[in-house]
Amino acid sequence: MRDPLNSRLAPFGTTIFATMSALAVETGSINLGQGFPDTDGPDEVLSAAIEAIRSGQNQYPPGLGIPDLRQAIAEHQQRFYGLTYDPAREILVTAGATEALAGALLGTLEPGDEVVVFEPMYDSYQACIALAGATVVPVLLQPSPAGYVYNSDELRAAITPRTRTILLNTPHNPTGKVFTAAEMNEISSLAIEHDLIVVTDEVYEHLIFDGREHVSMAGLPGMWDRTITISSGGKTFNTTGWKIGWVCAPPPLLKAAMSAKQFLTYVNGAPFQPAIAAGLRLGDEYFSKLASGLAATRDRLRVGLDAAGFTVYGSEATYFTTVDITPVRPDGDGVAFCQELPHLVGVVAIPNQVFYVNPEKGRNLVRFACCKRMEVIDEAVERLSKLSAA
Ligand SMILES: *Cc1c(COP(=O)(O)O)cnc(C)c1O
Repeated sequence: MRDPLNSRLAPFGTTIFATMSALAVETGSINLGQGFPDTDGPDEVLSAAIEAIRSGQNQYPPGLGIPDLRQAIAEHQQRFYGLTYDPAREILVTAGATEALAGALLGTLEPGDEVVVFEPMYDSYQACIALAGATVVPVLLQPSPAGYVYNSDELRAAITPRTRTILLNTPHNPTGKVFTAAEMNEISSLAIEHDLIVVTDEVYEHLIFDGREHVSMAGLPGMWDRTITISSGGKTFNTTGWKIGWVCAPPPLLKAAMSAKQFLTYVNGAPFQPAIAAGLRLGDEYFSKLASGLAATRDRLRVGLDAAGFTVYGSEATYFTTVDITPVRPDGDGVAFCQELPHLVGVVAIPNQVFYVNPEKGRNLVRFACCKRMEVIDEAVERLSKLSAA
């Protein structure tokens, strides 16, 4: 029998998160690899899910998602960004942002199309683009004293007559970058000039620090008609296992995403949908406390990473901080380092090279997550301090 694996998927192997989380369990390590919080979300949200199960909301919800959640998503886009979406025609509930991305990409791309993506990038992007028979054209985000930056000439050169889409993630995983207003304007101008779709992954929209503000691409002049906005309740309500995400887009783009999505899961998570609706309607204080709590563990982790001897690149948002390991491990081999770290000190991290189309660009970079209780971060910092003592 020939190799049963679809050749489009063959390059991707098993996701690194599964491998590293298994290693964390095996070695009893603190898992700062995969980004999931170790505390539960707000009571209002948890209780709403329990109540929904008890009251019998356990069968297939409507294909677009339950009306109340679509309404709550529309209210959320209006409240935070002043964006108006019609819950009946412009909002689609998905199995997490992951399925929203798959629906948006599989639903719009033709074989041979090109998608411009900043690298490093979330690992499902490359696989979904490949499944669509399209090609990723990466544009490098390079760490600098002013944060991660891209080169405008490189971005312009990446756009060709075959480019169909720019896929943008802001706030950005794994770098913790928040794209600046000037960068967002440049990207939107290019999208308009070349008549491109912009798919934006905004799952970290509320995990943003130091007074920075999330700018939604769809709200920039000329962008509403061509933007597919994606987010999820997982990161915002500490419910990453619920997999309730969404797409907001004008009808033609929403229909394209829906066309693919309906044959992936059809629908999901009936009792979690009203619970995420309750979450989206929480007061402003919930959202600001979420960010300030995470900023505190980010700060603590940063001090520890500095003390362990790494070169630390500051994180402006998200769960993640990236370090250059070269001062600690002169050969700069991030994969080998992450494989050894659990055995050396009992901490798991992720080698950033898995997020690159060109892995050598991220060879010496490693990502640590701060979305854990402060005492867990303290313990991880304590363990990591043995690296500089050794
Ligand atoms: C976590 C994450 C996702 C996936 O979100 P789910 O709702 O869990 O599917 C998508 N994009 C980025 C950048 C993420 O970090």
